[in-house]
Amino acid sequence: MKTKISKIRRWVNNGNVSRFRFWIQIIAFILFVYGSYFLIQVGQNLPTFACPYNPGSPGTCFLMSVQHRMHTSFSALFSWRGVGFLTSLLSFVLFFIIFNKAWCGFLCPLGTIQDWITMLRKRLGIRGGQYDEKSFKKLSWIKYVLLALLFLIPLAISNSFFGLPKLSHDLHTPFCQICPARIILPLFSGDTSQLSINFSSTVTIVMSSLAIIILALFFVGSFVKKRFFCFFCPMSALQYLFSKIGILRLTKVGDKCTRCGNCSRVCDMGILSIAEDITSVNVVTDNCMMCFKCVEACPEEDCLNVKVLNFKIFTSTEEGFFKRYNPAGDSKELPSEQSKK
Ligand code: SF4
Ligand code: SF4
Ligand code: SF4
Repeated sequence: MKTKISKIRRWVNNGNVSRFRFWIQIIAFILFVYGSYFLIQVGQNLPTFACPYNPGSPGTCFLMSVQHRMHTSFSALFSWRGVGFLTSLLSFVLFFIIFNKAWCGFLCPLGTIQDWITMLRKRLGIRGGQYDEKSFKKLSWIKYVLLALLFLIPLAISNSFFGLPKLSHDLHTPFCQICPARIILPLFSGDTSQLSINFSSTVTIVMSSLAIIILALFFVGSFVKKRFFCFFCPMSALQYLFSKIGILRLTKVGDKCTRCGNCSRVCDMGILSIAEDITSVNVVTDNCMMCFKCVEACPEEDCLNVKVLNFKIFTSTEEGFFKRYNPAGDSKELPSEQSKK
């Protein structure tokens, strides 16, 4: 029995998680973009962009629920409506707790589209860009600002802050109004109605024009920089607030790390701390999408680990590394080569 388990472990640790991820992303994309055509319903508070503007969507992203629920007076928020908010938050957390930030690495359709754009760029032989460390730190705050605004703007429609006039009702779901998923995902169902300027009022003209600009930035940015939009995504910020309670974990044994830098070189989010931090055990940071490419690229035995609770399901091994990155064979490019792209 013991030898059977160690054989399975060895097989998993030698496996190609990136290829597995590629197929899971395709299945998840079909589910979250076309699910309702197969009569699938997956709930209203998903920690990913399943956008109800898309006729094929089997559910609703939690950010939309939040904006609807915040569109209320303070007194209502601290009564029955507050209970509704807590219930939807609980269901978001229940979805999230199982996969943690792997919702981003494996399941989010917007994340998958960005990965496909990167694949296209690589096929065309065009090199991508990276943020320097300073810009990385500065830009990381934007998603938290967007998250705060997404709560505060709907509240400021029904309440007056500091005696200021209430905001226009046309700003009812401010993030959805500018979210690229609202335009892109319906396009996959053949619905082009979201790709337009809404001329109902000055506010809607501004917001829908902003949405088109952000859409263009999404495509151009993702072509130039891997996972460009994820860096600014408020869903990622919200997820990070709960990531410590996720049962899926990415951990590191600092004593085993040689700081070779392989893990940060292959990281699509450009996270340097994954290589540099040798003190933290939980190495999931706010920009991490739990894709586990770093675990694949680490040549040190048991240094980086993917765990469900405390049970290791995938771990870095020397054998696994050489199987995946054998420069003489037909396997993946070495991490040093990948970092240039
Ligand atoms: S960060 Fe946002 S866009 Fe990127 S994969 Fe996660 S939820 Fe999707
Ligand atoms: S690849 Fe492994 S050994 Fe190298 S820096 Fe990353 S965690 Fe440390
Ligand atoms: S730190 Fe590792 S798991 Fe997180 S995004 Fe980078 S490569 Fe993926």
